[in-house]
Amino acid sequence: MPALKNALHQIQIDYKTLNKNEKRIMKLDTLQKLYTNELRDLYNAEHQLLKALPKMAKAASSEELKGAFEKHLEQTKSHVKRLEQVFEELDEKPKGRTCRAMKGLIEEGSEILREDGEESILDASIIVAAQKVEHYEIAGYGSVRTFAHLLGQNKAAELLQTTLNEESETNELLNRLAESTINPEAVRETELAGASSGR
Ligand code: FE
Ligand code: FE
Repeated sequence: MPALKNALHQIQIDYKTLNKNEKRIMKLDTLQKLYTNELRDLYNAEHQLLKALPKMAKAASSEELKGAFEKHLEQTKSHVKRLEQVFEELDEKPKGRTCRAMKGLIEEGSEILREDGEESILDASIIVAAQKVEHYEIAGYGSVRTFAHLLGQNKAAELLQTTLNEESETNELLNRLAESTINPEAVRETELAGASSGR
């Protein structure tokens, strides 16, 4: 009876997957484990950024924007060091776990680097990509900072807060640069294009 055999086989597969999922849920049974997992995610994300930021600086046309990326590269090196201190507080070896979100954000950002166009508009689009990265980091650091507090890891909480502040400041700086780098000419051209197409 092949139908019955197939059905039994399917049940076995389902049971195996269920076990695997259960194990995964079971594994994340303490805040300490979640905290460590998220720290590893950030540790990997920061390493990805160490490689991406010089490329972003190179691609930017505005000197101010280039400068902002160069400055943030230096800050990112301290973010890595601070995470290493946080791991030390936990008696854990610093270890990363591939941050697929950061991979995606960087991949999407690098599509822009291949585009052709008006300099200030391209700069604005690099800023969008960079701000998405900062927002991801802000979410991650905000969470681990809170977890550190809850776990009574006060020194770690302070270190994470310092990095969080730098990520927020970078985001603010990018906000200001978006306003100042976008060439008024490009805005006017948009208006003209809108007018001629009857909008
Ligand atoms: Fe960072
Ligand atoms: Fe950052």
